[in-house]
Amino acid sequence: MKLSQASAQIFVPDQLPLGVALPRTTHLGIGAHHDDLEIMAAHGILECFGNTERWFTGVVVTDGAGSARDFGYREYTDEQMKAVRRAEQKKAAYVGEYGAQFLLDHPSSAVKNATDSVLLTELVEILGVTRPEVVYTHNLADKHDTHVAVALRVIAACRALDPSARPQRLLGCEVWRDLDWLCDSDKVALPLDGREHLQSALTGVFDSQIAGGKRYDLATAGRRRAHATYSESHGTDRHSALSWGMDLTPLMHSGETEAHVTELLRRFESDVTARIRRLS
Ligand SMILES: [Zn+2]
Repeated sequence: MKLSQASAQIFVPDQLPLGVALPRTTHLGIGAHHDDLEIMAAHGILECFGNTERWFTGVVVTDGAGSARDFGYREYTDEQMKAVRRAEQKKAAYVGEYGAQFLLDHPSSAVKNATDSVLLTELVEILGVTRPEVVYTHNLADKHDTHVAVALRVIAACRALDPSARPQRLLGCEVWRDLDWLCDSDKVALPLDGREHLQSALTGVFDSQIAGGKRYDLATAGRRRAHATYSESHGTDRHSALSWGMDLTPLMHSGETEAHVTELLRRFESDVTARIRRLS
C-alpha cells in the first residue's frame, strides 16, 4: 500500500510480505506518538503476544519531530530525533512481536487540522487492509491536542467504512489523563495481569523519552497497579494491573462525538453530587 508521507514506513518484525503480515491483524492500535501504543494499548499487545491466531498491528501517526529532548539527546536536531524515535518504535514492535508497525510520519500540525483529509484517507485504507476486530486509540478526554485529534480521525475513518467492514470494538485509552473518573458502568476494564517484565520492556525501550527524567515506564506501571487496587473499594484485588478504556464503539455508527463525552461527564457529575446529597 502507498502511504502519503515520503518518509513513512511499515515495519514487519518477522519480515513476512505485507500481503500476509497486514491481513493477519486482529488488534490494531492507533496512537499519536512513538510510545503511546505501549502506554495505552498494552492490553491488545499482551492479548496477541505469543499467539499465532492473534496479531497486534501498531500505527504511529506523527513523525516525532516535536519530541522533548534532554540528557544525551539535548543537541539532537529534529531529523536526528525523528530517526531515534522511529528506531525505538521498531524495537518495541520487535519485543512485543507485533504483526506490523506503521510509522506514518505526519507533522502534528497536519493531524490537528480538521480540514486536512490526508490522514483520514490513510486510516480508512489501513483499517480496510487490516480489518481488525478491536481498535485501541486515544480517549476523547485526553488533555493532549494531538491525541484527541487522532481519536477524532479514527472515529471518522471507522464511519467512512462500510458498516460490515467496521471493527467490532473501538476503545479510547489512557495516556495524558486517566479514566478513573468514568462511572464504573461506563468503564471498559482492560486487565494487564502477567508478563510484567514484557510490559516493562515495552515502555522501557523509549530511552529518548525516559532518560531526560520523565519516568513514563515507572508511571505507567504505577497507574496500572493503582487502577487494579482502587477499582473496587469493598473487594480484594482481582487483577494485579489494569487500564481503563472509554467505549467509543457507538460513535463508529452514529451519534455526535461531543454529546457522547458530555453524557459521560454528566453521569460523573451526577455520581459525585448524588453521594454528597445522600450523605449530607
Ligand atoms: Zn503521545
